[in-house]
This record gives sequence, C-alpha cells and structure tokens, in this order.
Amino acid sequence: MQRAHPVKHFLFWILMTALVAGGYYRRNALSKTAKNARMWHYKANAKVMATFAEVTFWEKDPDYKKGKAGHELNTKAKVIVWTVFDNVNTRFSNYNKDSEISKLNASAFDAPFKCSDEMWELLMASKVAFEDSHGAFDVTAGPMIKLWGLYRFEIKTLPTEDAINQAREKCGFKKLKFDNENKTVKFSVAGMSIDFGGIAKGYAVDKAVKKLREIGIEKGIVNLGGNIYCFENTPGDRDHYKVAIKHPRAEGAIGYIPFKGKAVATSGDYERFVEIDGNRYTHIINPMSGKPVSEICSVTVLSKSALLADVLSTAIFINQGKHCDELLKKYPDLQIMLISEGVNDTMKQAIKTSSLLKNQTITQRGSNGLVAYKIGKSWHRIHDIKKW
Ligand code: ADP
Ligand code: MG
Repeated sequence: MQRAHPVKHFLFWILMTALVAGGYYRRNALSKTAKNARMWHYKANAKVMATFAEVTFWEKDPDYKKGKAGHELNTKAKVIVWTVFDNVNTRFSNYNKDSEISKLNASAFDAPFKCSDEMWELLMASKVAFEDSHGAFDVTAGPMIKLWGLYRFEIKTLPTEDAINQAREKCGFKKLKFDNENKTVKFSVAGMSIDFGGIAKGYAVDKAVKKLREIGIEKGIVNLGGNIYCFENTPGDRDHYKVAIKHPRAEGAIGYIPFKGKAVATSGDYERFVEIDGNRYTHIINPMSGKPVSEICSVTVLSKSALLADVLSTAIFINQGKHCDELLKKYPDLQIMLISEGVNDTMKQAIKTSSLLKNQTITQRGSNGLVAYKIGKSWHRIHDIKKW
C-alpha cells in the first residue's frame, strides 16, 4: 500500500505551472519578449488546501520598475487569493475537525444543520453536479472514500463486498434532506458524510478570480492544485496562455493547450491512489459500484467556470465518456479530453450513443497504446499531442 510520492506530486504541479505561459518570464523581471510594452510579472506560491497554489500576474506599469504601485497591487492580489483559499479550507476541509463541513458531518443526522451561505452555495452546486452527471458526481461519497482508505492512504487489504454494500447504504445525494427556506440540511441515514474534494478547489479559484477582477487585475494565472484559471487578457505580445497536460503514463507532458478567459482541470488516476496487492486504486469512486474507477487514465476539461471544470473532470472520469453530448448542450463552452488505455465496453457504448464522440472526435493512438478522445470545440488547437 502506497501513497503517490509527495515529491512526484510536487513535480507534477511544477510541470503544470512551469509550462504555463511557455516559461517566457522571469521572477519579478522585465519581460524581454514583450513587443510593444514593457511587461512586469509577479509570481508567488504557497501550500494550501493540502496542495500547491501559485499566482502569476502581469502588468504594464512604469511605476512597477520603481517597486511602487504595481508591486503593491500584486502583493494585495496575492493576499486576496491566499485569504480566499484559506477561508475555503477552513470551511470545507474534512481534515480539519473544526471546519464547518466536519461539524455538519458530525451532527446532520441528529438534527438539521444550519448552513452558512457559502455552504449552501456549494451544496446547491453539488446538487447540479449530481444531476448533470446522472449521479456519478456525488459529494455524499464520503463513507466510500473512507472505506477505500483514501483519506489517509492506509488500508492494507481490499474491502469486502459486504463492507462496500454497507458503505453504499450511507451514500446518495437523495438521502440529503434540504430545507430551502431555512437553508438547513439533514442526513436521512446514520453515518453519512459529505466530501467536497472534487469541487472545493474549482469553487475557490472562481471566488479568487472574481475578487482579483474587482481590484483591477487583468492579466494572470491562478492555479490551485491544477485547477488553473487564465485571465482573458494576456501579457505582452502573446495572444494566449499555455497549460501543459501531464502524460498519464510517462514523465512530462503529452502536449499543451493554448487558451485564455477559461479554467482547466484534470482528473487522473496517477497522482493519488492506494496500492493493494500490487494493484492501484485511484481516489475517485464510482458511486454505482462503490469501487474506485478503473480503465481510464485522465480527463481534462476546459470551461469558463473553474468549478465546472473541476466537477466535470471528475464526473466524466467516472462516466468514461457517457453523457458528454448532454453536457455540451447545456454548457456549450466546454472542451473535454479523455485519455484511456484502449477502449473498454463502457467507452464503446458511449461512442455508439454519442453523436459527438461518433462524428467529432479525433482519436489518436500514442506510443503507449493510449487513446485520446477530444470532444467539443477547438481541440485542434491542442499542440504536440502527436508526439506521444
Ligand atoms: P483532485 O482533487 O486530486 O484534483 P478531483 O478533482 O478529480 O481530483 O477530485 C477527486 C476527489 O473528489 C477525491 O479525492 C474525493 O475527495 C472526491 N470524490 C471521489 N469520488 C467522488 C465522487 N464519486 N463524487 C464526488 N466526489 C468524489
Ligand atoms: Mg476535479
């Protein structure tokens, strides 16, 4: 039994972020590549929400050279982002016993729990995610996540079918009872628990970006554990930002996506997992089976909303391509990429029933026998994927 090596984890995010914007800047330095403007950038990183966060802002500001206005704005921007992330962590972390979610989980079976506005907002977003994903994205998966040892990566043997069935009894979004008027929630089964691990980071990034706009930040990147938002405006003479997509079965990237004014998120089986008897079990559970998802390597989603990118990358990972047509109809700006080892029966079925997968998908086979499905608009702009 093993946890993904923390150093490897760290390197992954460095890779994700080092390749953001093509590495054409230096720390707090005057960019030499800007054609018409002298662009400065400011960069900071921190460990928050049990992951790696990084912000980068650019600015065309002559005073910045003197270390005045620009620097002050960027420092203020950084503090705003760290504060948002800290607040989200304090409210929604299952690892902190004093967080609002821990209190909710401890008491919502005994009595209705009165939610803060933020808690209510995230619960309602989770409800939409549950519906959009046909029940695959379910924040009540807590008991199954615990059973599979995915909080502390500490189990040594596979859970029995009985134990899996018992955990499944305690899961299910429909077992939450909401009172919309009083903003309370109650568990209808003892032992239920909510886990926002698949939604809170995207939520936090959207909150941070909104606040950054309010103070006048126009160009930048906010990255919280791979949930990356790139602003609409780009620095210097560049017309987009670039984010690298990790190769799920080898070191390095399979390619990079140029974009702006959007967020990207990837759910993969290669970062967080438990290993039992030589087999790896990833941290994403299929609520229908009560077991970790297998046979898919990663799903990358682009959307204007970081929350949607976060949620749908996890949901599509579980559904393995099913319901993508519906999602694109509801959220036309989505772009989706699935990478798998070969094509399993679920995927075959998804391809059969999806007009998008049938007609618009570009399928490529890489050197490792991996297959990529790119669904949605403009995926032709993904670069370098042929190299893998
Ligand atoms: P990461 O958090 O590693 O970036 P994801 O965004 O894909 O990866 O979210 C995975 C997390 O979502 C898990 O660690 C767990 O907390 C939670 N989770 C696992 N299975 C489900 C599920 N079926 N529905 C909702 N959340 C889930
Ligand atoms: Mg996610």
